[in-house]
Amino acid sequence: MAGRNFLFVPGPTNVPDRVLRSMVISMEDHRSTKFPELWKHIAPGLKKVFRTSSGTPFVFPSSGTGCWEAAVTNTLSPGDKVLAARFGQFSHLWIDMCKRLGLNVIEIDAEWGTGIPLDAYADMLRKDSAHEIKAVLACHNETATGVASDIGGVRKALNDAKHPALLFVDCVSSLGSIDFRFDDWGVDMAVSGSQKGLMLPAGLGVLCASAKALELRTKAQMKRCYFDLGDMITSNAGGYFPYTPALPLLYGLVESLKMIEEEGLDNIIARHQYLAEGVRAAVLKGWKLGLCAKAPKWYSNTVSAVVVPEGINGADVISRAYKRYNISLGAGLSKVAGKVFRIGHLGDMNEAHLCAALGGAEMAMLDCGIKVQPGSGVGAAGEFWRANPAPSGLLGR
Ligand SMILES: *Cc1c(COP(=O)(O)O)cnc(C)c1O
Repeated sequence: MAGRNFLFVPGPTNVPDRVLRSMVISMEDHRSTKFPELWKHIAPGLKKVFRTSSGTPFVFPSSGTGCWEAAVTNTLSPGDKVLAARFGQFSHLWIDMCKRLGLNVIEIDAEWGTGIPLDAYADMLRKDSAHEIKAVLACHNETATGVASDIGGVRKALNDAKHPALLFVDCVSSLGSIDFRFDDWGVDMAVSGSQKGLMLPAGLGVLCASAKALELRTKAQMKRCYFDLGDMITSNAGGYFPYTPALPLLYGLVESLKMIEEEGLDNIIARHQYLAEGVRAAVLKGWKLGLCAKAPKWYSNTVSAVVVPEGINGADVISRAYKRYNISLGAGLSKVAGKVFRIGHLGDMNEAHLCAALGGAEMAMLDCGIKVQPGSGVGAAGEFWRANPAPSGLLGR
């Protein structure tokens, strides 16, 4: 097959060539005296990406889901109350996990296409004068619907209610691409993974824990073994891991952290906003279609879920794009299956790369009977990008 398959699912994302090369290594002894050098390159870089000085980063050989489990089981006890909102497949899955692990979840259902309902959170926290709620869950970027939420607002709701509950944030599809502030927002557990903004293959769960969260480990009665942070803390102190680490991925992480440092986190965040606005111009102004995100305040800078017209199956567009045009678009999940297709615009990405997504999606849509104006998507995106200065990460080759 000639040419590339263009990957626009919102995770796994495209792995930069230099990161790919950094992972082609011979295996080495993870108990050697030299091995601890590696963690010394990783931990400080991760702290910068989380924007924390006081938090402790952890890397598990798992995916992001494993760190959801680590966050919960290391801090809570069976039957503990946690507050969470469901507004997409990923916020749903974390709630589902908490219930399966024996927690008592206060569930708030919000419309898909909206995000964390701050007023409802504030209400619940204010009413809970006995402080029975032990943790508040927040999905920063709901990848299923392309919705970003206000985590600073959740912190404010906690502070206004003078509520001591822990703040757990799923930043799997926002870390390293949308502004995320562990220290400023008083986050206690931040959960992420390797295959989104960190531009690596899947296989690493990435977690950051506050001192307050780590102190609770001795009190937390939930069963845990593989994901026990105590074992990690003991081994990491010397630069080792309690079990065989995923060596190539760790070398890849060193390289991707280097790339993040070179471009600069602020510049990366600005680039994601600039690219996302071009995609949104294509969808809204060019194709005259809608986004799943109900209002601009919910727009995600890492993924856009495009609503297909009534009577059209979004899965047909995705299938046509893949089979005929070598473009991988993200599927509609669960409640929005068939109703949307998603364009992931995070990680190693630039304007011309995204033109492939827009051009390919457009051809597939036309083939499936969606009457968009040919060329209108790329046209509208290009108009936006040409009218605005390019963030520094896109220049200087
Ligand atoms: C991808 C994703 C996850 C799941 O991560 P895995 O690495 O697949 O376990 C969780 N939450 C969000 C918001 C995601 O985008």
